[in-house]
Amino acid sequence: MQWTSVNDLREKFLSFFESKGHLRLPSYSLIPQGDKSLLLINSGMAPMKKFFTGEVTPPRNRVTTCQKCIRTPDLERVGHTARHGTFFEMLGNFSFGDYFKDQAIPWAWEFLTEVLEIPADLLYPSVYEEDDEAFEIWNKKIGIPAERIVRLGKEDNFWEHGTGPCGPCSEIYFDRGEKYGCGSPDCKPGCDCDRFMEIWNNVFSQFNNMGDGTYTELEHKNIDTGMGLERLACVVQGVDNMFEIDGVRRILDKVVEISGVSYGNNPDRDMSIRVVTDHVRGATFMISDGVIPSNEGRGYVLRRILRRAARHGKLLGIDRPFLTEVCAVVIDQNGEAYPELKEKAEYITKVMSIEEERFDATIDGGLSILNNLIGTAKSAGQTAISGDDTFKLYDTFGFPIDLTREIVAEAGLSLDEERFATLMKEQRERARAARANISGWAGTDKTALATLPKTEFTGYETLEGDAKVIAILSAEEGPVQEVSEGEFMLVLDRTPFYGEGGGQVGDRGMIRSGGMSATVTDTKKTDGIYLHHCTLESGMIRVGDTVTASVDVKRRAAIRRNHSAAHLLQGALREVLGSHVEQAGSYVDESECRFDFSHFSAMTREEIDRVERIVNESILAGVPVETVVTDPETAKKMGAMALFGEKYGDRVRMVRMGDFSTELCGGTHVSNTANVALFKILSESSVAAGVRRIVAVTGLGVLDLIAGKDALLAETARVLKAATAADLPVRAAAVQGEISRQKKEIDSLNQKLAASRMDSLLAGAKQVGSVRLITDDLGAAGMDSVRALCDTLKDRYADVVAVFAIHDGEKLNFMGVCGADAVAAGAHAGRLLGAVSAVTGGKGGGRPDSATSGGRDLAKIGEALAAAEEILKEMLK
Ligand code: ATP
Ligand code: MG
Repeated sequence: MQWTSVNDLREKFLSFFESKGHLRLPSYSLIPQGDKSLLLINSGMAPMKKFFTGEVTPPRNRVTTCQKCIRTPDLERVGHTARHGTFFEMLGNFSFGDYFKDQAIPWAWEFLTEVLEIPADLLYPSVYEEDDEAFEIWNKKIGIPAERIVRLGKEDNFWEHGTGPCGPCSEIYFDRGEKYGCGSPDCKPGCDCDRFMEIWNNVFSQFNNMGDGTYTELEHKNIDTGMGLERLACVVQGVDNMFEIDGVRRILDKVVEISGVSYGNNPDRDMSIRVVTDHVRGATFMISDGVIPSNEGRGYVLRRILRRAARHGKLLGIDRPFLTEVCAVVIDQNGEAYPELKEKAEYITKVMSIEEERFDATIDGGLSILNNLIGTAKSAGQTAISGDDTFKLYDTFGFPIDLTREIVAEAGLSLDEERFATLMKEQRERARAARANISGWAGTDKTALATLPKTEFTGYETLEGDAKVIAILSAEEGPVQEVSEGEFMLVLDRTPFYGEGGGQVGDRGMIRSGGMSATVTDTKKTDGIYLHHCTLESGMIRVGDTVTASVDVKRRAAIRRNHSAAHLLQGALREVLGSHVEQAGSYVDESECRFDFSHFSAMTREEIDRVERIVNESILAGVPVETVVTDPETAKKMGAMALFGEKYGDRVRMVRMGDFSTELCGGTHVSNTANVALFKILSESSVAAGVRRIVAVTGLGVLDLIAGKDALLAETARVLKAATAADLPVRAAAVQGEISRQKKEIDSLNQKLAASRMDSLLAGAKQVGSVRLITDDLGAAGMDSVRALCDTLKDRYADVVAVFAIHDGEKLNFMGVCGADAVAAGAHAGRLLGAVSAVTGGKGGGRPDSATSGGRDLAKIGEALAAAEEILKEMLK
């Protein structure tokens, strides 16, 4: 067996199976596509389910991959065992109804013992206890002695997932020697210790679980195998655990370097070092595939492992943000095999550092609260932290619940999980109720609609047409036969009115017949039935009437422009920001196009400009907008971007705008991108963590925008007395110049005024002991000028004490100073002002030489100023 690097092992595996007729495919994204049963891809087989079920025909019936995997159920084992990571790469070979066991087993053996030259006597196969066929292949065909083949039960060696295809498996274990063993006398392959390490699992899906306890043989039998690349490397490189293989070891070394602790001396610390290594590795790959930290689903898995990594960093004594430094090594070590890491390096780093900063902010506050709770619980002799406290910590302080669990467990306490779960449920229900209320549909009598046929929508092709009234719903009475006034809802057998959906508002327009006319103020859609919200203008309308339904053509055209622009915008955003951009919501009406999308940071001015330009270029390219109705798979093959999590029927409508955009969409669109005319972004902002919003206008909306700006400029020009808008910059500069010249003049006049006032003030000064006291009511004088006056008095006349009242009819202030000699004699401006303003019911104070205070009762200004003399006398004693 020769030392072989991880990169070489991957390549050897893939090319080995290529030589056996397999098609090599790149790793699928960690985000499952069109599979809601799974949060994150956890095996090589997971993204190929559709090939196994026959739903989609595979590109070849033999395929080989190296697949990125995340396994959150293994989270707690990471760092403890040698062989579990939350992130790992799985090598696999797959047969879709092609070869079976008798070929899969020998190839696996050939690869391990001949290509990699792993000593055969260190390898142990296991088979399902009832699978004699596999046993025979190992025993007779390969020549493994019967006593070295382990038969294991259903739990270990039968792959099954509810009903459907299932079958036995055969694993291959590597004996790492007694030193890794648990010492138990029945330690053998399948034991949970680290001695016999499972490296490869071969699944033979040959049965169909009928769901009633019986199994039938599948006509087309499949092979699905999975081998952990890191585990294989661990064997071939002879290292202790999967974090010490080349590539991963570099990451581990970086953690050691940053923390300054040594590796291999302390089991707890080693564990933390491996946890950080694993988690940053996993997080890096997740972010590169478009996962963004959040409080739900995949985003939460990412948030959880990033926060766990940060916390184990703290346990290692790292007291500064460090995750991105580790991330840089992950990118460097894997950038060749996974170029997307290099391409998105900047983005990945940004997401990670923002999350770490956020966590730092939360954790410090939360930790001290939690430690208090633990302390209180312990001193009260309790064994658990209350569910209410836990919930509050989570809900109000944003402290992650699993972290609470970990820390509480470390302190030897538990949580009242039941109460916590109840509170969480209540909160979810509150949120749901809040959402239901705003939908505006609470009052609709759905039972009244249940028996009606679905409405035929004719509005893709036409905007006006005849139709039959099949139901009328009045707001008060529900279904009625006729209406002669007021508001009601109308159901027709066919309609050109678009019912609100897919982010596009409902149409408005008119419905007429003979002497009857009704305005349609909105159109909604429920279970395929279109509801026209109407106001009767004249005449009356009955069930059975034939009417002419006419959509407001101008408004619909504006909506179309905005909707088509939203598609072009999504394409442009992906081009400029990257493929992590996914639609998170959209809203288009006649006046704007609002588009929400996943992206972690604010867009720069330059990015916004580029997006705007690309959209306008695709408009100017004037490509026809084509719509095709097809099945979802064909649409996907043609590159249609579907909304993740959206349910599509068996027929989907695909809207394609040249090479700029292909999306599944039921909305109405322009027939040629040129009809959008022009596109202008109004704003880019944040709506939620990791979700940005662009609001834009198109067509005549841009014209309105320009007109609005023109009017603004004209008005500004008028106010500034500029001849035309073009003169504005010159005019504005001139006005600014004039203002600063006048300001200077005012300053100098103020100074002169102050000097002349000073003379009269001094003339009116009262001798109090060795000090001259000046008091005056300065009325609405500016604070700045009074301050200047005070400073001058103080600097020039050391024996002066001055107290001034300043008021503008509403607010009253006092300002005062004491010259140096006055201070030496005992005068104190702060206390003097405090006492003076107290006479008016106010308060304040300051330094001995200078102070201001606030007054209250304007009527008492005279009294307050008069009191200054007595107060000062007291001070000078
Ligand atoms: P184990 O019992 O050791 O957890 P498993 O039965 O969960 O393994 P499979 O689901 O059969 O493993 O996955 C196929 C292969 O993927 C395994 O043989 C192993 O080499 C690898 N593998 C599984 N889980 C992990 C993990 N958490 N980290 C690294 N490699 C793994
Ligand atoms: Mg497992």
